[in-house]
Amino acid sequence: MDQEAKVGVDYQNELMARCARGNHDAVTKYGTFGIIMAIVCFPCGLICLCSDKQKRCVRCGVRVDS
Ligand SMILES: [Zn+2]
Repeated sequence: MDQEAKVGVDYQNELMARCARGNHDAVTKYGTFGIIMAIVCFPCGLICLCSDKQKRCVRCGVRVDS
């Protein structure tokens, strides 16, 4: 394995190690249904938007509950 590839593998392993320790890089994603409801039934639809969101890790895709 050449040095360049090894750096890439090390980098990925480090990121995955962080996820394995529960240190996920979470982002909030809104569901399509919630977004549509927010637009169609504004402002009541905002309740749907808030209940249809979830946090997911951008690296491993696991759902993060806080
Ligand atoms: Zn993760």
